[in-house]
Amino acid sequence: MYTDFKEFLEKEISDIKNAGTYKDERIIVSPQGAEIKVSTGKKVLNFCANNYLGLSNNAELIEAAKKALDSHGYGMSSVRFICGTTDLHKELEKKIAEFFGTEDTILYAACFDANGGVFEPLLSEKDAIISDSLNHASIIDGVRLCKAQRFRYENANMEDLEKQLQAAKDCRFKLIVTDGVFSMDGNVAPLDKIVALANKYNTMVMVDESHSAGVVGKTGRGVTEHYNLKGQVEIITGTLGKAFGGAIGGFTTGKKEVIEILRQRSRPYLFSNSIPPLVAAAGIKMVDMMSSTNVLQDKLHSNTEYFMEKMGKIGFDIKPTASAICAVMLYDAKLAQDFAARLLEEGIYVIGFSYPVVPKDLARIRVQLSAAHEKEHLDKAVAAFEKIGKELGVIKK
Ligand SMILES: *Cc1c(COP(=O)(O)O)cnc(C)c1O
Repeated sequence: MYTDFKEFLEKEISDIKNAGTYKDERIIVSPQGAEIKVSTGKKVLNFCANNYLGLSNNAELIEAAKKALDSHGYGMSSVRFICGTTDLHKELEKKIAEFFGTEDTILYAACFDANGGVFEPLLSEKDAIISDSLNHASIIDGVRLCKAQRFRYENANMEDLEKQLQAAKDCRFKLIVTDGVFSMDGNVAPLDKIVALANKYNTMVMVDESHSAGVVGKTGRGVTEHYNLKGQVEIITGTLGKAFGGAIGGFTTGKKEVIEILRQRSRPYLFSNSIPPLVAAAGIKMVDMMSSTNVLQDKLHSNTEYFMEKMGKIGFDIKPTASAICAVMLYDAKLAQDFAARLLEEGIYVIGFSYPVVPKDLARIRVQLSAAHEKEHLDKAVAAFEKIGKELGVIKK
């Protein structure tokens, strides 16, 4: 039996390779950080991690995790409702709610699970989900698992959102769902306008803050801080796997009745293991750090401004944003691949994105800034971009 299937898979694999979309993995042999060592022995500057606050290798988080290993052991061997809840899990849930100005929080093994398990327990066929067309794959999958009627609006397009709200107006409960920051353009969702429309059409709002928590807003509280809407959206999801330490874990935070129902009915919560206590302990430390000082958030913001200003001055076409994602537009797929490969030779690790990940003719290089970057790192990256930009005719000599 396997012979036929093996042939089938081999053909699929070679199709992926021929299409140029096969994903190779680069092996890192050092901790995650601004400078990483890869298995070839080469050291490169890392501009493609979601390590926005540089916490992936933070000494205080590591210390907190080590202490929890001693006090609470390694694993839980249980889902939360049987015997997988420690005081650390409860404390982290409380801290995350305080951080976002929400009422309660439920932890998941990942934000993929938080999004996968949020819609189905809350909404039925009488209800409607109105979803941004560029929302994360986990939101799309979560919506698929739910019986609610589906409406989709063009990315951040408020005219189209209003049209969809009108189309959904006879549904019982309605929920608009959007990423806080869209990962390809780095654009911040226009949450002020979304909330205004939600109020006009008696609709609830859910924001996925995975790329915006820790990043957007003066103190990194995400898009609800950026638009002065803290506590005003019903549901926020997010990850511990990006700015918040980068290990593993996700959460849903918001209205307390919503969280209470999720604890009773959300399948990834009920049927999947709880995060290890050491991750919860480091998470608690992370929230404490971000609440007692703003140095990391400030450094990320000034690094981002510095990099974007320099790149603009040299003549690159970059998308303005309040996030830490800088899309350097190159438009041509081959050019984006070649540019990224040349940057790696210069010791700068970034990724070129092209169709089908982004629309045809909108190929780009995505640069992700971090509080772990020092000015010399940024200068080195800008110099490499300038050199190769001239070499490949992207900017004027
Ligand atoms: C990364 C990401 C996720 C998935 O988070 P994990 O915790 O890694 O599963 C979900 N939503 C968005 C918008 C993301 O960017």
